[in-house]
Amino acid sequence: MNKNVLWVVAGAVLLCCALVCCIGAVGFGYYSFNATEESVGATELPPAGADPQAAEVPLACPASMQEVIDAVQYSVYEDSGASDVEEPDSYNLVTYTVNGDQIGDPQYEDSPSQYSTQQDDTDSHQLAWDLFAQLIPADYRAVVSEYVVFSDGPSNVLAAVEQSYTDPALWMVEVDNADLDDTDNLYFTLIHEFGHLLTLGPSQVPPDVEVYNNPDDTDLYDSKVAACPNYFPGEGCSLPDSYINTFYDRFWTGLVDEWQPIDDLGYTDDLDGYYDELYTFYENHQDEFVDDYAATNPSEDMAETFAYFIFAPKPMGDTVAEQKILFFYEYPELVQLRAEILQNFCQIDQ
Ligand SMILES: [Zn+2]
Repeated sequence: MNKNVLWVVAGAVLLCCALVCCIGAVGFGYYSFNATEESVGATELPPAGADPQAAEVPLACPASMQEVIDAVQYSVYEDSGASDVEEPDSYNLVTYTVNGDQIGDPQYEDSPSQYSTQQDDTDSHQLAWDLFAQLIPADYRAVVSEYVVFSDGPSNVLAAVEQSYTDPALWMVEVDNADLDDTDNLYFTLIHEFGHLLTLGPSQVPPDVEVYNNPDDTDLYDSKVAACPNYFPGEGCSLPDSYINTFYDRFWTGLVDEWQPIDDLGYTDDLDGYYDELYTFYENHQDEFVDDYAATNPSEDMAETFAYFIFAPKPMGDTVAEQKILFFYEYPELVQLRAEILQNFCQIDQ
């Protein structure tokens, strides 16, 4: 079972994907591009065939959007191999059942006493869920069956999504109750996690039940990857026309021979080497990624780029990283979705 996570540690990001956890250190980001006529402050142009109502939806809060982008300008992997930071223990505190916009039936988990205040803070649990539910249109989060409040203390992991424990076609959204104050990072991370739901959910990647039921069977996994004619992100064999298979075909086929041996290190004890080599890989292809976290693997690249697609102005396409953002503009439904998410975001963040 894959776990797609975005970590935030001491102002920088720490990540955990496909059960491989990585530690980031404080660094600096450097994302910039030449915006097109749809620069910050411009009005969203409706996609062809879109709901005519969309034509009346302006990008109402370019300054707030820019604040979100500014908040995530740091490096995850630079010097992370030398940081020697231990992965903290993480505890699930409460699991809620999701029913549409509502959460209920809280199941309280055993956790250390220092988390009892957070575990009982139902107002903050509700607040984080409401933020996610207000940002994401309801029909785009129908796969979410559970909402997990967890904590590993301040910073570290901020949020995650993973397949539910009972049905591989349903997903859990997980938010660290201790990290809600970093609002701009929270917005970005919730959209990043939603990017996983959008691109790895059952309508895009039909879940492989055998892999789901045998998450530690590497021989089975390898045989499934070999048998899949399309990109296999972990949950199953992606559909030929899925977002992620199309993204992979266009942007990753030329990288995979160089990237795969590095990714393999993430499954060994040599995580310092993994972080170092991943950062070197990123440096060698810097203009191909929106940030170094995006270089982790194709799924993380897609989710991270999706978050930039939502919050950043439309780029010119001068670099591969910008072309990756423009990839999402090729889909009218995603342009429409962006307008809806930003309308929701601007209403919340005022
Ligand atoms: Zn992720």
